[in-house]
Amino acid sequence: MNEQGFDSFALSAPVRQALADVGYESPTAVQLATFAPIAEGRDVIVQSRTGSGKTAAFALPVIDRVLKPGKGVQAMVLCPTRELALQVAGEFERLGRHADVGVAPIYGGAGMQGQIAALQGGAKVVVGTPGRVLDHLRRGTLDVSGLRVIVLDEGDEMLSMGFAEELNAILERLPRGRQALIFSATMPDSMARMAARHQREPLTIALSTDTVAPSGIAHHAYFSASGGSVPDLLRVLEIEKPTAALVFCNTKAETESVTRGLQAAGLRAEYLNGDLAQGDRERVLGLLRDEKVDFLVATDVAARGIDVPHLSHVIHCGFPESPEAYVHRSGRTGRAGRTGTAISLIGPHDIGNLYLLRLTYGIRPIERTLPSAAENRSRIEAARVESLVTAAAGAVSEDAVALARRLLTHDDHERAVAWLVDRFVLGERDQAEAPARPATVAPPSNGASSTPAAPSSEDRSRRERPARRPREEPPRRVEVKHGDHGVRDETPGEEVGMTGVELAVGKRDGVRAGEVARLLRDVAGLDRVDVGRIHVRDGLTLASVRSEKVDTVLSALDGVHYNEKPVAARRSPGDEPEAAPAPAAD
Ligand code: AMP
Repeated sequence: MNEQGFDSFALSAPVRQALADVGYESPTAVQLATFAPIAEGRDVIVQSRTGSGKTAAFALPVIDRVLKPGKGVQAMVLCPTRELALQVAGEFERLGRHADVGVAPIYGGAGMQGQIAALQGGAKVVVGTPGRVLDHLRRGTLDVSGLRVIVLDEGDEMLSMGFAEELNAILERLPRGRQALIFSATMPDSMARMAARHQREPLTIALSTDTVAPSGIAHHAYFSASGGSVPDLLRVLEIEKPTAALVFCNTKAETESVTRGLQAAGLRAEYLNGDLAQGDRERVLGLLRDEKVDFLVATDVAARGIDVPHLSHVIHCGFPESPEAYVHRSGRTGRAGRTGTAISLIGPHDIGNLYLLRLTYGIRPIERTLPSAAENRSRIEAARVESLVTAAAGAVSEDAVALARRLLTHDDHERAVAWLVDRFVLGERDQAEAPARPATVAPPSNGASSTPAAPSSEDRSRRERPARRPREEPPRRVEVKHGDHGVRDETPGEEVGMTGVELAVGKRDGVRAGEVARLLRDVAGLDRVDVGRIHVRDGLTLASVRSEKVDTVLSALDGVHYNEKPVAARRSPGDEPEAAPAPAAD
């Protein structure tokens, strides 16, 4: 950022007002370097990474100087993806809100009619993806006869995605005198050839302070024999504790399986890949932006251009083949002067590409080793003990203290305590041996949800993510897949204050008691102490749930599926909300 503010740009009052509205106080390096040449009408070719403020670097001079009064399309920005197109359109709308700048986003996957209406409505700026823009040009629904400036945003990405033909076809159709601005994080030869063909004496601007490997990002690499497996990923998450992360996979199928793995571990994850309809893409991005999802698992294509300021981490679960892709992916964190961390899971086949990254961009991720299963287990145990001790610092009755004292003098005290731990703390057995479980990822220190004591609000603070689903927002539909989660499979009895809930899925659907317990906790938001015995029968499951929580459970499980079968939770027929209190054991 530059200390002298935007004064040197001599901006018009409407743009100054818009800058004040969005809160940009001083120009970034790329904005400072490009404003004057663009305002003077020069063609420029700018090497600038995403996250540097490059959108405003072209939007500000275009809105303030290049656009003239009158109707019709005067500026066009081409972007590699619809997500980026929407983001760029949003920036134009924000910066041009007081300056009569109509903006029309034009991208594939959305209806033509709405876009035609936006174009006919007098939009001055069109922001689109190459395929759809060319489509409109060919159909005659986009009139570019009055076009004054064309911007290629993330030019290298458009070329690497195979849009060269469309870009050439679009550029050929534009008026001769138009200004052409190219923004690109890297400058491959194909980009230089395109510039030579479509620009006039361009000014080349490469920012020494704005290199493709931004300094605000720390790079870590975890080596493992399996590369990007879900258990490894979960162990990495446990170590790095991201607040919010984009997790990159190399294939669509991987995005879906990794997401399922994260969800099964109780984490709030969604996937974003090219198979998703536009509406769904926007929905999951909205969830990430609104912090309702902490992990977005995406392919390169789907994630390009994403600007979510609070992302603390980018995780290369599948290591990318090209160094450019690594830089682009990593640039999704550490945006606008923030710091961020890029983490790579490196398998034996990725070593060559890691080496290439060093050669090309001088990026040397700090090598880290995943803890062994034994180290992991010991850490989790320590965290659980700490959590129990913290929880126990609260009020404890004298009777309980007396009983505990007596218990500890008994020969079988270890076994008795183990039983209590099993019943009230763990709820499921052998958790440390299965890294995909929530307890391994979010050990009890994250909040005392695994202990009988109520967690304090401090315990639940955002610092301690990865977090489970917030209990006030149960998802409407959750797919739960079969997995080995340990079982406590007892017949529900007369438990004090508990009510039976019946689920229409059972053994033949692959149901395990441990998974039902997890469902009740993670989806319905119950604490361990709210869940009693769980009995899995052939075609149905009976679970004891604290009576006050039954309504919450029924509405949270409404629409939820288990192995694709509706869970259809209901109160057990004939079960009274309150069972008669059992006599206290002496
Ligand atoms: P971009 O490189 O265009 O994707 O921008 C990255 C982020 O920087 C976006 O969130 C912008 O809103 C923000 N940004 C752009 N220009 C400025 C500025 N001058 N001051 C503060 N933030 C900015």
